[in-house]
This record gives sequence, structure tokens and C-alpha cells, in this order.
Amino acid sequence: MLIKLTKRQEEILEIVKTAGPITGKDIAKKLSLTRATLRPDLTILTMSGSLEARPRVGYYLNEETEINLQVAKFTEQLVKDYKAHPIVIQKSTSVYDGIVQIFLEDVGTLYAVDENGYLVGVISRKDLLRAAIGNKNLNDLPISVIMTRMPNIVTTRSEETLLEAAKKLIQNRIDSLPVVREVDKGSSTYEVIGRITKTTITRAFLEMIER
Ligand code: ADP
Repeated sequence: MLIKLTKRQEEILEIVKTAGPITGKDIAKKLSLTRATLRPDLTILTMSGSLEARPRVGYYLNEETEINLQVAKFTEQLVKDYKAHPIVIQKSTSVYDGIVQIFLEDVGTLYAVDENGYLVGVISRKDLLRAAIGNKNLNDLPISVIMTRMPNIVTTRSEETLLEAAKKLIQNRIDSLPVVREVDKGSSTYEVIGRITKTTITRAFLEMIER
């Protein structure tokens, strides 16, 4: 269970995580506090099961707490620190050239923009495959005909958490989210400044495990 900790309690857990097993006296020294000041926090952390204490050995983290700390940190990660470069094309581009771009850029999704560079559509691999099955001349067919359009595009923003982005991917059953910035407040026109994909989430997850 994740309990809400005070700042100092979080600091104590961090110290025990890196330096444990460690005595109460040494934790107090690291925080420049007295043992007595620290005692209530140590009691709470021990009673709640976050910390374990062994006489003459000191405090150490139990495995569940260690995992909870990592998960808590993971859920706070922001989109802006993980977003990848977006592959953007003009909405007048042909489906044929869209397919070429997907291969050249080695991505699964393209973002379409208008003359001003504002986001107007999303084109996935399957959108292109579908168009390729039913149409003979892919050079004459603009991607704007087959793309998923605004306002149906699910987006994310720099300040959103990776967790929120991951939920959007799963709930909408899509592979990628354009990271957008609204051009003017309330304008509902957006610039694409990045992308978050299932790969982004998987990479962040691996980083967390390996850390
Ligand atoms: P694919 O189906 O090619 O594996 P997706 O699952 O991402 O790729 O796309 C499924 C459908 O959802 C496609 O029609 C695509 O246009 C649309 N789509 C993809 N990403 C988004 C998004 N961020 N917002 C809205 N629709 C999207």
C-alpha cells in the first residue's frame, strides 16, 4: 500500500535505500537532526511496515517499500523528459509518399499539418495499408482523405505525466500520441512538439527497473 509520507519521511526512506542497513543515529547525522527529533518518524515508518529494524544492525527497507518508491517515482515522470522527435508531413502529401516516409523515418505513425504547421491529422500504418488495398493510384490520393482528423485526435502535453499518457494510449487503443502546444490560449490550434509511443513507455519502464 502507498501511504502519504511527509517530506522528512521520504528523505529517511531515501537514506535507508542507499545506505541501509543504517542506525537511527547515523540517519539523524545525515539529516543534521537529533535522534529524538527523528524518533516519531522512524516509529511511523516502522509501524506502517515501510522500514524494518533489527537490533544492532539498524533500519533497512523491505522489498515492497523499495518497489513502491520506484513506482511512485515512475508515475511522476513527465512527458517532456521522454518525448521523441515527431515525424510531421503536409496534409497534401500523397498516400504513396506517406508510405515512403513511414519506412524512411522508421515510425509507425505520421502527424499531418496544414500550411501553418498546425496539427490536423494522424496517419497510422493501418490507415495507409487500408488505403493501399482499395486504391490504385496512391500518388493522387492525399493523406488528408484517409487520416484521423481533429478534433478526434488524442494528444498529450509536456507537463502531463507518463502515466496519464500511458492511460490514453491504452484507453483509446492507439500506438502514439502527438505532444502538442496550443498556439494561442483557447485557440484549439496546436503545434506538434513531440511524440509519445508505446515504445516510449516501455523504455521508461525498463529504465526504472534497471536503475
Ligand atoms: P495501427 O492501427 O496502424 O497499428 P494505431 O493503433 O495507432 O496504429 O491506430 C489505430 C487508428 O487510430 C488509426 O485509424 C489511427 O489513425 C488512429 N489514431 C492513431 N493515433 C491516434 C491519436 N493519437 N488520436 C486519434 N486517433 C489516432
